[in-house]
Amino acid sequence: MTAVYPGSFDPLTNGHLDIITRASKIADKLIVAVLNNSSKTPAMFSVDDRLAILEETCGHIKNIEFAAFSGLLVDFAAAAGANAVIRGLRAVTDFEYEFQMAQTNRSLNDSIETLFISTSPQYSYLSSSIVKEVAILGGNVDYMVPAAVRVRLMKKIVGASCAGPVI
Ligand code: ADP
Repeated sequence: MTAVYPGSFDPLTNGHLDIITRASKIADKLIVAVLNNSSKTPAMFSVDDRLAILEETCGHIKNIEFAAFSGLLVDFAAAAGANAVIRGLRAVTDFEYEFQMAQTNRSLNDSIETLFISTSPQYSYLSSSIVKEVAILGGNVDYMVPAAVRVRLMKKIVGASCAGPVI
């Protein structure tokens, strides 16, 4: 099975990392695909930064690839030769949206299955938005994100307090 794990990853969290690690064990090949979506802007991290973070954090996993995409997920997945899409589920609140997306994608291309992996309990509260919110307010996010994100967040936040609002 070749699977695509799509997301904004703005930034990558330990919750995403948990899903990536677990998905890489069940897929023959896992493509982590960074959504380049201008409607969900302003993003804190550029697509290039998000890809660099993924490479630094999970580049050691043998059967993993990274890519950026825009447009329809099923088109990207089909072009990449994938037959599954992986999504993470945290709570009931994720379910409605994820279910709608899965049905929509199935109606667009029924040869690509959506598979859900449920969060590990310790990450069930974790989201990229929460990380950004806490970091901007000066809270400690060290235990929420991998080192590659920590370093970049610190630079952005120090930069912002010296040179005005860059985030
Ligand atoms: P999107 O903008 O597509 O929701 P995200 O980067 O926010 O992208 O999330 C990508 C995927 O990872 C989604 O399926 C989301 O539900 C899942 N995810 C995010 N955080 C967690 C977490 N803490 N535990 C499990 N899955 C998660």
